Amino acid sequence: MIPYGKQVISQSDIDAVIEVLNSPWLTQGPKIPEFESSVRQYCHANHATAVNSATSALHIACLALDVGHNDIVWTSPNSFVASANCALYCGAKVDFVDIDSNTGNMCVNNLESKLISARENNALPKVVIPVHFAGQSCDMETLHNLSVEYNFRIIEDASHAIGGQYKNHPVGNCQYSDICIFSFHPVKIVTSAEGGMALTNSKELDEKLKLYRSHGITADPHLLEKDSDGPWYYEQQALGFNYRMTDLHAALGISQLNQLNQFVSKRNELAAYYDALFIKHDEIRPLTQSDDVYNAYHLYVVRIANATPLLHKQIVTELRAKNIFCHVHYIPIYLQPYYRQKGFQQGYCPNAEAYYHSAVTLPLFPELTQQEQDYIVATFVETLTELSNAEK
Ligand SMILES: *Cc1c(COP(=O)(O)O)cnc(C)c1O
Repeated sequence: MIPYGKQVISQSDIDAVIEVLNSPWLTQGPKIPEFESSVRQYCHANHATAVNSATSALHIACLALDVGHNDIVWTSPNSFVASANCALYCGAKVDFVDIDSNTGNMCVNNLESKLISARENNALPKVVIPVHFAGQSCDMETLHNLSVEYNFRIIEDASHAIGGQYKNHPVGNCQYSDICIFSFHPVKIVTSAEGGMALTNSKELDEKLKLYRSHGITADPHLLEKDSDGPWYYEQQALGFNYRMTDLHAALGISQLNQLNQFVSKRNELAAYYDALFIKHDEIRPLTQSDDVYNAYHLYVVRIANATPLLHKQIVTELRAKNIFCHVHYIPIYLQPYYRQKGFQQGYCPNAEAYYHSAVTLPLFPELTQQEQDYIVATFVETLTELSNAEK
């Protein structure tokens, strides 16, 4: 079976983890700040907070921006559920902005119309969470301009996009956002096993992120509210969590980061090869790529031109039966039973729904071979032809 994604673990990754096992620190040792500073330097951001997952990073990012009851957070329906759940963890309301079905990203025109009506109804969002779908950055400059006009904050969910660029600057530099988060889950671009990070250029937000990461506790003499009782003294100043990363995970992350550029350029090469193979097949369309973006290519997605929900289901099922483990990203979040209970209904974001019933994620990972890609594309084309003929 060819999987849709797979990590690459080298001997140097293994050695890096073993070195920590032989060191005095397993958890809060020197590897955490080292990993944080490697990522923030790579991304040209001022501050970084490592946590145990991107889901945790999204949660503390919302908390750092004071998201609470009575607040509204908007995100993309075409994402993993964590992009929306983080707002609910804080007691806020969540809503969805429909996508551009050619890219899978939040559509800035839809965002603007939704903002115009939200202003009339006095229901503007406090935070908007764009998701850089499949590794392609959203139109951040336009998003940022809207955030100034409508007074909301921005958290970039860049779980798919580390190593990518927007207008020749690394994703994660936070030029157009308050906080940017990454995931280091093994299926993503670089891994720390489980892990995530929140980057920001604001010292104040960074202090809050670090506070919420670890129980709301600080021992930093500059941040204490009362006089210290002695060298053991610490204060709990907020209700935080234990979202800390370990040194073992950070060591793996640091080692993987050394290979990030190689991984991303290999992913781009493989994506270009897929694009070239699909060029003759109008019935299968790769996602549209924006000129000002260097895609990190977490996922390679194609859309079936004349898809029906049945045909879409059949093709994914058939390809899996033929040892190609393709996938579908994503079921619109609001169609999940938990979100439907909150009142969301079918038809709410028509582009996201049409996209969902046509999108297929094909295998993409650095060790995928061109022979495998040839097999995948030939099998896809053949299976689609057979199924379409049978449907007629
Ligand atoms: C993977 C992913 C997450 C969650 O990442 P974890 O590190 O597994 O918590 C959040 N958002 C998106 C878009 C993702 O793909």
